Amino acid sequence: MIEVKNITKHYGKHTALENVSFTLEKGDILGFLGPNGAGKSTTMNIITGYISSDSGDVIINGINILDDPTNAKKNIGYLPEMPPLYNDMIVEKYLSFMFDLKKVRLPKKEHISEICKKVGIDDVQDRIIKHLSKGYRQRVGLAQALLGNPPVIILDEPTVGLDPAQIIGIRKLIRELGEKHTIILSSHVLSEIEAVCDKIIIINNGKIAAQGATDELTGSGKGTRIIRLEIEGREQAIYSALKNTDNVISVNKIGETEKGCYAFTVESKKDIRRAVYRAVSRTDCNILMMQPQGHSLEETYLNIISGKDN
Ligand code: ADP
Ligand code: MG
Repeated sequence: MIEVKNITKHYGKHTALENVSFTLEKGDILGFLGPNGAGKSTTMNIITGYISSDSGDVIINGINILDDPTNAKKNIGYLPEMPPLYNDMIVEKYLSFMFDLKKVRLPKKEHISEICKKVGIDDVQDRIIKHLSKGYRQRVGLAQALLGNPPVIILDEPTVGLDPAQIIGIRKLIRELGEKHTIILSSHVLSEIEAVCDKIIIINNGKIAAQGATDELTGSGKGTRIIRLEIEGREQAIYSALKNTDNVISVNKIGETEKGCYAFTVESKKDIRRAVYRAVSRTDCNILMMQPQGHSLEETYLNIISGKDN
C-alpha cells in the first residue's frame, strides 16, 4: 500500500531525515513516535507530496509520488499539524470548497453529509469555523482529509491541544477509521500511539530507531507484563502463592528488603494485580507494595530519546 524507500532530506546543512524506509499494508494503523524535531512532520510531508525529499522514493498504491503526483495524492487524505482551515468560513461551505479543490467525483451533498456524520460534526455544519472549539476544529480538519474516501489517511499529531475527553473522542474515531483505511499518525506521546496503533516506528534525529508491531515492542517483545511486589511474611509461602496465581509466567525472588519483607517480580500475560492481591490475602502475608514496571516500549523509547534533545 505504502512503500517508503531510503528517503533523505536536508534543510541546508541540517539533516532532517536520513535513509528512512518502511512499508505499510492495507488496513495498518502505523504510529510515528518521536520527540519534537525528530522528523515526523517532514516524513509525512514527503509521503503526501507536500514537500520533496532529496533522495529516495515514495510509492503509494503502486504509484511513485514523483512520477504521478496527482494520482498518487488521490489516494491520500492529510491532516497536517496545522489544519488548513479557513476560519471565517462556515463548516459546510469550507468542506464544499475543499471538495471542489480536490476534484472529488462523488455526489457532493450526500458525501459531505456522510463525512460530517462520521466525524461527529453534523450538528455544527452551519457554524463559522473560528467559533468552534479546538476539538471540533480538529474534526473539521479530519473531515477535510476524508473527502473523496482516500484509502490512506495521514494525521500529524491529531490530538495536540485537545482536552482529555476530546482526545478519547478522536482516538475512538481513528480506530473506527482504521477499519476501512490505512492510517499513519504521529505523536510524541507514547500512550497515545500504544492505544491506537498496531505498528510503531520510533524516530529520533531523523533516523528510525526502532520499528515493529505494537505488542512486539511493548512488554519485552512477548506481550507480557511485569509487576514488582514487596510482601511481608515467609518467603517460600509467598513464592508459592505467587507461582500458583492464574496467568503467572514466572516469579523472580529479589531478596529481603527490610526485616521479614521480601521483594519479587512477577511476569504475567494479563493484568494480575487483583488475583495476586487475593492469592496473598489467603496466606497470612501482607502486601506492602505492588507496582507495575515500565513497559519495554517505554524503556526503549526513553533510552532512545534521553540526552538527545534536538
Ligand atoms: P517533528 O515533526 O518530529 O517535530 P520535523 O519534521 O518538523 O519534526 O522537523 C525535523 C527537523 O527539521 C527539525 O530539526 C526541524 O527544526 C527541521 N526543519 C523542519 N522544517 C524545516 C524547514 N522548513 N527549514 C529548516 N529546518 C526545518
Ligand atoms: Mg511535527
